[in-house]
Amino acid sequence: SNVLLTDLEKLQVLGHGNGGTVYKVQHKRTSKIYALKIVHGDNDPTVRRQVLREMDILRRTDSPHIVRCHGIHDKPSGDIAIVLEYMDAGTLDSLLRGNGTFSEPELAHVARHILKGLSYLHSNKIIHRDIKPSNLLVNKKMEVKIADFGVSKIMCRTLDPCNSYVGTCAYMSPERFDPDTYGGNYNGYAGDIWSLGLTLMELYMGHFPFLSPGQRPDWATLMCAICFGNPPSLPAGVSDEFRGFIECCLQKESSKRWTATQLLGHPFLCKHPISNK
Ligand code: ADP
Ligand code: MG
Repeated sequence: SNVLLTDLEKLQVLGHGNGGTVYKVQHKRTSKIYALKIVHGDNDPTVRRQVLREMDILRRTDSPHIVRCHGIHDKPSGDIAIVLEYMDAGTLDSLLRGNGTFSEPELAHVARHILKGLSYLHSNKIIHRDIKPSNLLVNKKMEVKIADFGVSKIMCRTLDPCNSYVGTCAYMSPERFDPDTYGGNYNGYAGDIWSLGLTLMELYMGHFPFLSPGQRPDWATLMCAICFGNPPSLPAGVSDEFRGFIECCLQKESSKRWTATQLLGHPFLCKHPISNK
C-alpha cells in the first residue's frame, strides 16, 4: 500500500534539517495525515549515499518503536520523497521547550520506548548514530518513536571506525572521537546508548548536560570535555535508580556500557512499570 505523491496535499512545514524539509500532508481521498520528508536531489555523492542508506533502513524496519514509512519516491527532479507516519505531538525537543522538563516517571516511559526501538535496531545490525531529542518523535497516544536514519549505518563484517564522524557532535560518545582509548572491542552499538543517556539527562535538566544553561557550544571544548572529563552526572535530589540508570548509559569505556536489552531490565524501569494512562 504505497501512498502516491499525487494523492497528497501539503498543509504546512513541520521541520527543516540537513538537506531536506518535512511537511505535514493530507491524503486527498482518505483524509489521512502523513509527514512527507523531501530531500533535495543533490549531485553531492555523500548526500546521495546518506539518502539511499536512510531509504534502505526504512524499507527494512518494521517496529512499533520506529517511525513507519508508507512509501519512497524518486522524483524526476532528482528529489527523494519519503512518506512517513505522522507523529502528532512533535519531537522530544519541542515538548521540552513547550512543556518544560520531564519527571522521572515520564523519563522512564520515554526510555522504555526508545530502548525497545534501539534493541530492535541493534538486533537487526543497525546503528542509529544520531539519537537526540529532535530525532525522537511523539504522538498523542504517548508513543515515542525513533526517526531520522540519515546517518545510520548497517553493520557489515568490516568495521570502519574512521568513517564514524557523522551525527551531531554534541551527542557523540568518547569512543567515536577516540576509539583507541574508549573503544574496547569497538562495536558501535554502545554509541547509541551514550546518546540516549545524554538525551534523558537533557530532558530532566532542561539543558545539554555538558553545557551550562544558555552556554553556546564551542566544539573543541565540548570534544575535550567528552573525551578527557568525567561523564556528566545528575544534580542532587534524583532517585538512586535514575542516577544508576544514567551511569549505566554514560560509562566512558564503551564495553562497560549496558546494552539496550540489559537496560530494559534496569531497576529504574522496573520501578515505573508500563502504565496505560
Ligand atoms: P533531518 O535529517 O533533516 O534532521 P528529520 O527526519 O530529523 O530530518 O526531520 C526534521 C524535523 O521534521 C524533525 O525534527 C521534526 O520536527 C519533523 N518531523 C520529521 N518527521 C516527522 C514525522 N514523521 N512526524 C512529525 N514531524 C516530523
Ligand atoms: Mg533530524
